[in-house]
Amino acid sequence: MERMETEIEIKKLHRMLAAGTSAALTVQEAARQLAEAGFEELHFSDGWGLDRGGRYYMKHHDTTLFAFTVGRGLSYRDGFRMAAAHTDYPCLRIKPRPDIASAGYGQLNVEVYGGPILNTWLDRPLGVSGRVALSSGDAFHPGVRLVDLKHPVAVIPNLAVHLNRDVNKGVALNEQTELLPVIFTGEQKEDEGFLDFLAKELSVKREEILDYELSLCCLQEPELVGTRGELLVSPRLDNLTSVQALLSGLMGGEREQGVNLIALFDHEEIGSRGKQGAGSTLLLSLLEKILQCFGRTECQVKEAIYDSMLLSVDVAQGTHPNYLGKMDPTSRPVLNGGFCIKEACSQAYATDCRVVAVVEQLCRNHGISYQKYVNRSDVRGGGTLGSILSGIIPVSTVDIGVPLLAMHSAVETMGWKDQLEITRFVTAFFQDA
Ligand code: ZN
Repeated sequence: MERMETEIEIKKLHRMLAAGTSAALTVQEAARQLAEAGFEELHFSDGWGLDRGGRYYMKHHDTTLFAFTVGRGLSYRDGFRMAAAHTDYPCLRIKPRPDIASAGYGQLNVEVYGGPILNTWLDRPLGVSGRVALSSGDAFHPGVRLVDLKHPVAVIPNLAVHLNRDVNKGVALNEQTELLPVIFTGEQKEDEGFLDFLAKELSVKREEILDYELSLCCLQEPELVGTRGELLVSPRLDNLTSVQALLSGLMGGEREQGVNLIALFDHEEIGSRGKQGAGSTLLLSLLEKILQCFGRTECQVKEAIYDSMLLSVDVAQGTHPNYLGKMDPTSRPVLNGGFCIKEACSQAYATDCRVVAVVEQLCRNHGISYQKYVNRSDVRGGGTLGSILSGIIPVSTVDIGVPLLAMHSAVETMGWKDQLEITRFVTAFFQDA
């Protein structure tokens, strides 16, 4: 990549990391980029008239997004090149009836979403991000507002070392009682609850707020770190690095034939369930709808889907220098060594040798750096949406992603050069004949 392109790509990632404070805000930023690049918004419940050479996107319940481009020379046999990533991340979610008064403090009742490293959420200024449902006068169509309070409103203070001398031997935090953030001191008056505060922020009346999906979010800005400035330290690298690589790849890579498509799913961190998760059949319905717009029969649609390919893009475990024993003895991906191809014989990562070979050949053709990742045989590791999606849409699927340290910490660490490699790869995937 030229120096100019490198700077643009890193700026885009910085902007996504700062904007994507919750799944809904990530979708909003993705839609902004797509609209700016001339993509046209569609709604699934409408009839569509798609054009060859057209560029489209579709939001799904605010937190999931699909975008696709149609080749100018689309023919009846052409299939899809697809890439999927997730918009959610492990965090703390604010519960209904959120106010807790305790010994002269106002606190929030929260629950854990996904699998964060809990103690990394302590002692940080925390913001609030997500969406709020408001009364509208039309029962079936409430108003929905996105919320991103850019100022810190909460903090979960640690217990002082003097009050727990064993703290450095490790602390198991109780999820109900020891993660409650403080939002003010003093007694809470009648109209000074969290929802009163939220109503003021939204310029609505307290009683207009019917429900919400709001999370606490870490407000730390992304920063380049190290004597060579090669490390990128930021909240939400899992999985906004992938989200941005997919957006840049789709907008930057065009093919004459076929359809390029990206899917940004919510709910990956809680098992990809529900209508916004990769376990939903919506993507399959979307593929059918796209090809039917071009007059394909049901049988031709099935043939085209069978001939398609999917990248499942999510972060990988980088080798931690302090914990070499946690890694496989022969495959040890390092930061800034290229993106990872993830393999697991258990199919926890969707893969087969033929599709891995496709990835490797594309990398060789374009001089893109990659590494292979496998779990240690005695470590279970994580799963991805790739294996779930490839069960619903039986296409060749491969799991790839940038290597990361401190995955699921409130603040994670990666090598920024890997972002360029994965972006170049996704672009080549969407571009090469
Ligand atoms: Zn992830």
